[in-house]
Amino acid sequence: MRKNGIVAAIDGPSGTGKSSVGKLAAQALGYSFLSTGEMYRALGYKALQSGIDMADAAAVTRAAQSLKLTFKRQPDAVLRMFVDGVFLGDKLHDEAVGSAASKTSAVPGAREVLTNLMREIGRNGGVIMEGRDIGTVVFPDAEVKFYIDAAPEARAERRYKQLVERGESANYDEILEGIKERDHRDSTRAAAPLKAAPDAIIIDTSTLTLNEVVEKVLKIIKKHL
Ligand code: C5P
Repeated sequence: MRKNGIVAAIDGPSGTGKSSVGKLAAQALGYSFLSTGEMYRALGYKALQSGIDMADAAAVTRAAQSLKLTFKRQPDAVLRMFVDGVFLGDKLHDEAVGSAASKTSAVPGAREVLTNLMREIGRNGGVIMEGRDIGTVVFPDAEVKFYIDAAPEARAERRYKQLVERGESANYDEILEGIKERDHRDSTRAAAPLKAAPDAIIIDTSTLTLNEVVEKVLKIIKKHL
């Protein structure tokens, strides 16, 4: 057993609710929660800001190496990420940054840098880590692995509602198209493609409420504590 408990991996495509599930489960356990997509988003953000050619693997790798990422646990269990000491918040969550993250994350050299950092953070356990390749690549020895999925239409619907609630403009068809495009890129890339680990427990959240998924996940994790 690791010093602070187990590592629970949650992988799956975007918009399945896996971040909310991971965060609530970590709160219930007194664990920390890390969303690794934030790290790839920080890289995408930096690439956009500095006008790096995202097809230039060497330039993207250098950008990843020069990223200064630090983390501080918040009372809600979230390991909040700071880029060069700054919390970027919503800036990392628009579609342009998501798409840049998806492109830059296909570069193996950049993945290596961020993967090492994730391993460092999770080494002592007591963490729920969410991403695309946590159970397959980052922590193949994670004590529990989940793969959380949902139909693209259900994910687009959730994203659409989220944007409308925030008072932002939203087009369902465009969102659905974007989701399908990103899924395709994430699951067909050569480096650490999005896929369920052979030993992952698969949960489809299309027709489940957030609480139902959290209950399910907690029940399984508790068997491993
Ligand atoms: O989870 P989120 O949507 O914030 O992730 C943004 C992008 O970062 C994903 O589309 C994916 O390309 C990349 N990512 C990754 N590996 C992870 C987490 C995220 O490649 N472990």
